[in-house]
Amino acid sequence: MKKEIVIKNSDQRIPINKIVCVGRNYVEHIYELGNEVPEKPVVFLKPNSAVIYSGDEIVYPDYSNEMHHEVELLLLIGKTIKNASLTEAEEAIIGYGLGLDMTLRDVQDELKKKGHPWEKSKCFDTSAVISEFILKKDYQLTLEEELSLKVNDEIRQKDKLQKMIFKPAQIVEYLSSILTLEHGDIIFTGTPQGVSKVNKGDKLHAELDGLLTIDCIVK
Ligand code: MG
Repeated sequence: MKKEIVIKNSDQRIPINKIVCVGRNYVEHIYELGNEVPEKPVVFLKPNSAVIYSGDEIVYPDYSNEMHHEVELLLLIGKTIKNASLTEAEEAIIGYGLGLDMTLRDVQDELKKKGHPWEKSKCFDTSAVISEFILKKDYQLTLEEELSLKVNDEIRQKDKLQKMIFKPAQIVEYLSSILTLEHGDIIFTGTPQGVSKVNKGDKLHAELDGLLTIDCIVK
């Protein structure tokens, strides 16, 4: 099935082109996983087949016992850019969303030890939960907004976007030095501290400051 970006309060739909993710973008989260603060963000991809929406079920793969939630700000790219300046990078961002980068931490830890790629821990079906998107022309992001995630009504993650090491335009500038970004690309911008294990039956509720929400059950 073709996966689409849904624009909030609008009939507009944008086909998802590709999904690029950065990791290690909030200092306290880097420390909670025992990683080092990088000079540049860690970059990986998720396939479009991993995408689900608020209201859908997150499915626990049978090869993991430790799926973690990672709540993240998403960026929507609106035009083709390569080797963009910071200004061009900012202009290429046309909207914002909320996402869950579901991660199999036990599998990822094994892959890291072996120096292997992370796909098995990051690319499984239902590992990319996305909200509706708001367009930049309708909402100016200040980074004073707060990301939060509750599991069964208990707060696990809650931090201001201001805590990002690499801010949205810096992320886009850097990514465009590696690969061409195009209309319909989604960028996951990393997660704040508080990631933790989810169990089957858990109810997840994520928010971007009341602007955007996600509700999912783990199956
Ligand atoms: Mg992440």
